[in-house]
Amino acid sequence: MSQSSSRHLDTKLAHLGLAEFDPQTGAAPVAMPAMRSSTVRFRSLEDLDRAQAAQAAGERRPAYGRGGLDTHAALEQVFCELEQGQYCALVPSGMAAVALGITAFVQHGDHVLVTDSAYAPVRLYDSGLAKRLGIEITYVAPDVASVRAAIRPNTKVLYMESPGSLLMQMLDVPALVAVAKEHNLVTVADNTWGSGYAYRPLELGVDVSVIAATKYVAGHSDLMMGAVVVGDNAALISTVKKTNYALGYSVSADDVWLALRGVRTLSIRMRESAANGLKLAEFLSAQSEVERVFHPALPSDPGHALWKRDATGSNGMLAFSLNVSAEQARRFVNALTLFGIGYSWGGFESLVQYVEPELVNPHSYWNHSTKPLIRLHAGLEHPDDLIADLTQALAIAKTA
Ligand SMILES: *Cc1c(COP(=O)(O)O)cnc(C)c1O
Repeated sequence: MSQSSSRHLDTKLAHLGLAEFDPQTGAAPVAMPAMRSSTVRFRSLEDLDRAQAAQAAGERRPAYGRGGLDTHAALEQVFCELEQGQYCALVPSGMAAVALGITAFVQHGDHVLVTDSAYAPVRLYDSGLAKRLGIEITYVAPDVASVRAAIRPNTKVLYMESPGSLLMQMLDVPALVAVAKEHNLVTVADNTWGSGYAYRPLELGVDVSVIAATKYVAGHSDLMMGAVVVGDNAALISTVKKTNYALGYSVSADDVWLALRGVRTLSIRMRESAANGLKLAEFLSAQSEVERVFHPALPSDPGHALWKRDATGSNGMLAFSLNVSAEQARRFVNALTLFGIGYSWGGFESLVQYVEPELVNPHSYWNHSTKPLIRLHAGLEHPDDLIADLTQALAIAKTA
């Protein structure tokens, strides 16, 4: 597959994961076709033997369909480039990536530390599966002193998410990694926010990055997928491969094809979404009804200095608390016409989530304001229209 020597992601995304030229005709399709196949057939047993030997040596040489053929290989290559990793496992959802990213490195009796601003369903993994397997998970404020104090002799993994879910809390990932390394912990980070474009945990020292491709990578709100990307560590790669095999995860070539099509425009979509997100954050900061805005690209955000140091961009996610009653805040959400009421983010469209207090109460970063909290994803609509929509909805919220 052709490799661009450019260091610019925009250029790379147009030239990675291309179909090989046919040796006979010297021609290749510009768009990698969706290679749907449940297995591979070989011309001879010797060819099969060669494929298996290459596989044993660590090469990507499919002999069966579960891991996917060329279409999957192309998207894996893109993920490795985005995250600067050595190995990528594609899995059926972001949550599957989270589960694989933790399960791969623990066994009965082990302990896992999770930063308390992580994606809420991690707690369902904990109560729904980890507990039954005898793996203990505890949640920790994401600062060096708290993490250091929480490490036990049986702690094996530090799981982080930066910026954290809902409030976009920036973590000092290099400092947390340094503590983890002192205790030989495997570090895993959810990088859905950065999606390899705006933030790269592996470059900050993290061992394994998990990404919900469902969000910005796919970019069009039309599929579910996750990726587990591992850095240059043969032992960790082997552990992820084996665990993934045992779990039997497999992703449809059609979904991979859609994700590959979506990711070609990742940088342009994320830049536009981030520009809109910042405009909305600035607008909301200036409104008297708004108590506080959470968005690390905003200079007033407490995480702004870390964001400037560690991130290479931003995205369209922001949250804000409103100086109104819960009933008025619900009226505000219902009055929005361009923001769809719904979970998820990273697609072309703007979305709004009324954040229930139980989702942020476990975050040490949350100031326990009693004011209602709202999360927005700024999509690709014109920012003037999005601001006009927020303006009219705030006016409706204010009426007694
Ligand atoms: C959405 C999301 C996930 C899970 O992704 P799915 O594809 O919906 O399973 C994981 N982490 C974060 C931060 C997310 O926002």
